[in-house]
Amino acid sequence: MMKTLSINNFEFAQSEQSIAGVLDILEMDRLTDVLLMQEPLPESEIQFTLTGYNKKYSLPSLHLSVDAHLPTTCQRCLNAMSVQLKLEFDYLITDSEPAEFDENDDLDWLEISPVMSVPALVEDELLIAFPIAPTHSSEQQGECKQHAMQSGEKPNPFAVLKDLMNKAS
Ligand SMILES: [Zn+2]
Repeated sequence: MMKTLSINNFEFAQSEQSIAGVLDILEMDRLTDVLLMQEPLPESEIQFTLTGYNKKYSLPSLHLSVDAHLPTTCQRCLNAMSVQLKLEFDYLITDSEPAEFDENDDLDWLEISPVMSVPALVEDELLIAFPIAPTHSSEQQGECKQHAMQSGEKPNPFAVLKDLMNKAS
């Protein structure tokens, strides 16, 4: 049902509607292609809220907030891990790029559409925000190294390269 969730984005913004929901990661084909998910799937969840505003900016706008836990594979120890992404966006709804638009980096824009797919928009933003080589965070690095030693696997060459680059900078 969520898969086909679409809105008239201009009317939605003008009439200041709001929707919230949970999306199924398994329905996001483009996203699951890049996640390197392992079986069994760790807990994953994609929550979103989309709210319309008529007069927050010079044009009707949408605010999107996404809170996602995405299953993936640590590129250092090759164990399953979860990446949390908390994202916030404001989009102007307009047929052409607003004048002097690039002066405000915090603002995006979307073309007026009577059938804008909300799951596709969320998926687009998750694809852009997802790290290229996800690894356990610094708080979790003990776990990461322990796993790498226990499994006896050689470190992933890309992860080693990334470490070298981090040290050099
Ligand atoms: Zn790791």
